Amino acid sequence: MDKNLKFGIIGLGLIGGSIFKALCALKCNVYGVSKSKRTIDAAKKYCKNVSYSMDYIKDCDIIFICTPMNKILNILEELESILQPTAIVTDTASLKGFVCNKKRPYNFIPSHPMAGTENKGFSASYETLFQGAKWALTPFRGTNTKDIKTLKGIIEVLGAKPIITTPEKHDEAVALISHMPMLLAQALYKTTKDNALALSLASSGFRDMTRLALSNEEMANDMINMNSQNIQKSFCKLCASVGDLIKNDYPDQIKNIKKQRKKMYVDGINKLK
Ligand code: NAP
Repeated sequence: MDKNLKFGIIGLGLIGGSIFKALCALKCNVYGVSKSKRTIDAAKKYCKNVSYSMDYIKDCDIIFICTPMNKILNILEELESILQPTAIVTDTASLKGFVCNKKRPYNFIPSHPMAGTENKGFSASYETLFQGAKWALTPFRGTNTKDIKTLKGIIEVLGAKPIITTPEKHDEAVALISHMPMLLAQALYKTTKDNALALSLASSGFRDMTRLALSNEEMANDMINMNSQNIQKSFCKLCASVGDLIKNDYPDQIKNIKKQRKKMYVDGINKLK
């Protein structure tokens, strides 16, 4: 990675703060923009170039937009009159279809780091968040391959593995692996919450299955509102799987599921290509 690159990060929460901390630790030239005084003051302890003003990042070469999803289209629009045409911009939104609504006068390459926790804000961020994670990219057709290569290189320096796909395939996949599981965790808790004995007896299985019920509420609302069709399709598939499991050779099917699931993660990291 070219050490002379100037990085701009908009939104210093869990994701933006983690990118910011990782790049500060690598002694890169980093500029941060955030909304609250508390976040800005905390970020200044890592690197002094932090401000409320978007103008602060106008000369940056690489920009990460890490705000909640419902703010991103306005920011992409605002950046049109601020950035150099050579700037490479990526967002980190959990959905990719909505940001691909139009081409931009800068080099916009939508992306989504497949890492996170149930916590939010700068205080929850940490520099190793992306180590061993996948990072999806959904470039527009015709995007300069040199710019894609530059962004992929930075993602690799952050410890993640870039995966190129389309916005449609991405949004369908994340409904299965992220949005449906979150809604299931919330529904599981809601179904159980009035049974005092069940809650009192609940142990690690219930704790693990409901961890996603602790998700960032603004992000959860955005996911459910903005990916509802794919989430509905995922739930239809889930219902079909439950029926199939119960009706057709349950012992054999769960044996295979257990075998495949065991191979998928090694030391907590998804090893599938
Ligand atoms: P977060 O912890 O709530 O951080 C969002 C940050 O955005 C806040 O800290 C806030 O800054 C800042 N912000 C809000 N409006 C802003 C504005 N107008 N200008 C500048 N900064 C603004 O959320 P997150 O989990 O990092 O999520 C950020 C993005 O990453 C979302 O688009 C989400 O879909 C995506 N994502 C999240 C996860 C996950 O697991 N959490 C994983 C992958 C991708 P202040 O603190 O200064 O108010």
